[in-house]
Amino acid sequence: MILGILKESGKERRVALLPESVAVLVKMNINVIAEQNAGAGAFASDADYVSAGATMLPGADVISKADMIVKINPPTDEEVKLMKEGQVLLAVLNPLLHHDIVKKLVQGGITGFSLDVIPRTSRAQAMDILSSMATVNGYKAVLTAANSLPKFFPMFMTAAGTITPAKVLIIGAGVAGLQAIATARKLGAVVEVFDVRAAVKEEVTGIGGKFIEVEGAIDDKSAGGYAVEQSEEFKKKQAAAVHDHAIRSDVVICTAQIPGKKAPVLLKKETVDQMKPGSLIIDLAASTGGNCELTKDDETIVYNQVTIIGNSAFAIDMPSDASKMFGKNVINFLKLMITPEGVFTLNWNDDIVKGTFVTHNKEVVNERVKSALNL
Ligand code: NAD
Repeated sequence: MILGILKESGKERRVALLPESVAVLVKMNINVIAEQNAGAGAFASDADYVSAGATMLPGADVISKADMIVKINPPTDEEVKLMKEGQVLLAVLNPLLHHDIVKKLVQGGITGFSLDVIPRTSRAQAMDILSSMATVNGYKAVLTAANSLPKFFPMFMTAAGTITPAKVLIIGAGVAGLQAIATARKLGAVVEVFDVRAAVKEEVTGIGGKFIEVEGAIDDKSAGGYAVEQSEEFKKKQAAAVHDHAIRSDVVICTAQIPGKKAPVLLKKETVDQMKPGSLIIDLAASTGGNCELTKDDETIVYNQVTIIGNSAFAIDMPSDASKMFGKNVINFLKLMITPEGVFTLNWNDDIVKGTFVTHNKEVVNERVKSALNL
């Protein structure tokens, strides 16, 4: 099989597969071709790719020669136009929310896999790009907060007086939230945490966070470890509790998401109105609407002396390790479909392959995506 790596566009600095991942693929008997300069943003040169066994080509040649194309972001319109019927695409398509790209792949007869809809099972953990990127996001969000806050994170007893530690409120204790708690605690902040899943309470307290319980949350075991939409009564109770804690915090890090839906709005304008001047909100849920009512995706705004950073893509700012983790996840996923001779087989019977599979033979083949598209 010929696998093609495309260069990402816009401000993206990551690359789906670094030279170290190419070397692993070559050992798996896969021929790798990569677009010239594909790794530049992640500090990997064309020479590094060639040493690892790849051939460097212009992007259009990669598309015309490859059996499978691997990218992080969805292909651009130009890339889709160049793709051939039956070609395989592996990328992060966000197909539950971004229906346009799904329709384009269907039209073009592309066999599309979307790594963000991989089932969240234990066996799939090593292929879970959402977890990898959420780890980077949670870590970077806290470092960004520490860097931007006009005060210290840790407590200090100095000759110039005692500095009290920063108070950090983390909303949502999934992968990004837990990483944010751990990083904020390492920097010495006092950390309070909200989540609707009771299961995370122990994890939160285990890494030094204080779990704030709001009674009456719907914790649906059938949702596969994910949160579900909450009742109106619970939402009111939670809003009041979030308000009380947020107005006493220096930093609020928002990470709450519900898969396939808009992020829940948990931090109202009225709350931000009463937050301390100089305090900071980092909204990692910005790309799905944000947990804060005032968040603007991909923008930093200052409202009433409170800085609100809407950023769901901090991983872009850590391109080396983010690309390394992404590549490792891709290789683990490919191992489910590549024979020892390097031949690609559509392994329908594997639940992970099936769950990640989105389009094939001009049809949507994923049940979750079908229902999101009302098919
Ligand atoms: P996510 O990004 O979908 O959500 C982040 C957090 O927000 C979750 O903890 C969720 O409970 C919380 N949340 C949602 N609505 C909320 C609300 N109204 N108020 C407060 N908090 C709210 O989640 P994620 O980080 O991708 O993962 C969630 C869980 O999925 C994990 O903790 C784990 O159980 C499971 N998971 C499994 C695997 C695997 O086995 N492959 C990998 C990663 C995660």
